[in-house]
Amino acid sequence: SKFKDGLAKTRSQFSGKINDLVSRYRKVDEEFFEELEEILIQADVGFETVMEIVEQLKTEVKKRNIKDPADIQSVISEKLVEIYESGDEKSNQLNLQDEGLTVILVVGVNGVGKTTTIGKLSHKLKQDGKKVMLAAGDTFRAGAIEQLEVWGERVGVDVIKQAEGSDPAAVMYDALQAAKSRNVDVLLCDTAGRLQNKVNLMKELEKVKRVIEREVPGAPHEVLLVLDATTGQNALIQAKTFKEAVRVSGIVLSKLDGTAKGGIVLAIRNELDIPVKFVGLGEKMDDLQEFDAEKYVYGLFS
Ligand code: GDP
Repeated sequence: SKFKDGLAKTRSQFSGKINDLVSRYRKVDEEFFEELEEILIQADVGFETVMEIVEQLKTEVKKRNIKDPADIQSVISEKLVEIYESGDEKSNQLNLQDEGLTVILVVGVNGVGKTTTIGKLSHKLKQDGKKVMLAAGDTFRAGAIEQLEVWGERVGVDVIKQAEGSDPAAVMYDALQAAKSRNVDVLLCDTAGRLQNKVNLMKELEKVKRVIEREVPGAPHEVLLVLDATTGQNALIQAKTFKEAVRVSGIVLSKLDGTAKGGIVLAIRNELDIPVKFVGLGEKMDDLQEFDAEKYVYGLFS
């Protein structure tokens, strides 16, 4: 039901338009599909993905001999779930180690909700019985360290930090030592998000990653990229840039509650082939949900 609430804006637009479309047409024809394409594009599903969905729908409609627009609604939801799940085998589940330290690097542009996501995720992991620690690796943005500390206090987890402006790789080294000596299960690492300076960003991420790889064999176990759902197609462009810099293993799509264009989830999955592992549905501690394609698509319609 959290999922449903968070999708309220997308749902009211999207299903409203689909219902309207279905009620205006007497038969499923080329024009009907063109209007459907338009609705999907407006929901930020993304051009390539829309074309793929509509092609598949046309085939399905022919195969099942569907004539009445009212009968197509369930086929649309089926296809939306299918297109998401056909991505590949990569799981939506967080890759947590059964034993020893799991290191999760969290990357993303300033303002997308990185710090909030780390706070919410630490709460979720703590609730699952994990010992969690945070590394304040964004030493660049003013206030980033304090903001992470506020979350640390709120959730009740340790935060390892240095002064603003210090070397993020050094913070990471400290955090890794502390995590190992305090028997931490999951270390969540914040990073800076200056996309304006792509070369520096890449160098910094590379350096931080090298420290992690050296200190914990097999780590980082996850590189989560946080994207702001309200930025629509821009989020896709950011994702492509980060993919060039670092091996992104999962997406957290924040602020899905703040947009009517929740279709961006499908575009991300289909065009980037990276699983969406979590969605942010609000600003509070428990407003982070594991992503579930079926719940999501049915949340759009029901
Ligand atoms: P950062 O610069 O990437 O670390 O971004 P912040 O974590 O500071 O988040 C920026 C703003 O977005 C803050 O006001 C957050 O409360 C807000 N925010 C983050 N995630 C969500 C979400 O899922 N839903 C909503 N509505 N707001 C969010």
